[in-house]
Amino acid sequence: MTATTLVHSAAQLVRVDADGFDTVENGAVAIEDGSIASVGPTADVSREYPIENADTEVDASGQTVLPGYVDPHTHAVFAGERVDEFTAKLHGTSYQEIQSEGGGILSTVRAVRESSLAELTDHLLKHLDVMVAHGTTTAEIKSGYGLSLESERRLLKAIERANDLHPIDLIPTFLGAHAVPEGQDADSYVDRVISEQVPAIASDDLATFCDVFCDEGAFTREQSRRVLEAGLEHGLTPKIHAEEFARLGGAQLAADLDAVSADHLLQATSEDAAAMADAGVMPVLLPGTAFTLDTEYADPTLFEAVGLPVAVASDFNPNCYSQSMEFAMALACHKMRMTPKDALCGATRYAAEALALEDGTGTFADGAPGDLVVADVPRFEYVPYNFGVKTTKTVIKGGEVVYDE
Ligand SMILES: [Zn+2]
Repeated sequence: MTATTLVHSAAQLVRVDADGFDTVENGAVAIEDGSIASVGPTADVSREYPIENADTEVDASGQTVLPGYVDPHTHAVFAGERVDEFTAKLHGTSYQEIQSEGGGILSTVRAVRESSLAELTDHLLKHLDVMVAHGTTTAEIKSGYGLSLESERRLLKAIERANDLHPIDLIPTFLGAHAVPEGQDADSYVDRVISEQVPAIASDDLATFCDVFCDEGAFTREQSRRVLEAGLEHGLTPKIHAEEFARLGGAQLAADLDAVSADHLLQATSEDAAAMADAGVMPVLLPGTAFTLDTEYADPTLFEAVGLPVAVASDFNPNCYSQSMEFAMALACHKMRMTPKDALCGATRYAAEALALEDGTGTFADGAPGDLVVADVPRFEYVPYNFGVKTTKTVIKGGEVVYDE
């Protein structure tokens, strides 16, 4: 017996697939056994998949149907909050000053080390509920608030558990080199990441990607190279936090190592973009970070100029406290001057490419996972245009309604 889900009568359906982007009035999507089976005008789709035969039927009249959002860069597994630092930042204390006083990442590390696997998992599940309510159906999550083998492993196990318990598909990334732990120096910590953490995490199959924070106050380009090469040796594909506060050459390193993505890129240059284009490294831009730090935004036109598409992510973490891809898309348009179409493609198909997902995730291609958002707006441009409000009304994951307002 096949199970069919039919979403029909949408004011607008946004067809994103590997070849392009178009919109259909009075659109419908049929999902069969969890995968996209038919997309087009309701009259055509319902001829093959009659409404009365559907196991699940969603009438999307007056609404817009889009592929489920893919968030390709989050630090969603953590403990503790940093709301007090938020107030300090508003009074002019910089991110680096907070960090140097033992706050920032290191305060989250202390909270994580005191938390059990069950506590970390519960905390993550609460955030995933918020993410799905804003339309996210697939998300990357990084470790990096443990900074020791034992606590990094616990974070990655929490991701693994939450992935089993929650409808959002989670892609785990090992980010042991997120910061230098208190009382250690960067070089000897990198030695430990390479000799202890990478081999154990890889052999436990707890991560797909290996990431590193290549920046001033974190890790140099050479240290970053050592971490990513160790990951590669153990089968972990490189990703990198590059050129966020300072331009240390992380984007070029990403190109050298054929990283799947280079993320942040606020200080990147056109040379960096050209090197990334040659190597096929996806730029991932995180406008929420610039918003919360009140800095300049990354420049998507650098990448457009060399023919690279751009992925958009939330960067959800205790310093950038928004789980919403709707808000990330709004910022991409309002602050980085991306078009609504480019922001949406950045939050769907290109975000999936930044995670090396090749099963059609983030698109309505035939056979792609049956993941979609029904947004309570008449056309897709309203999602970023109508900033600061939730437009997601219904979310379908693998053909099942997993969120309904
Ligand atoms: Zn990050």
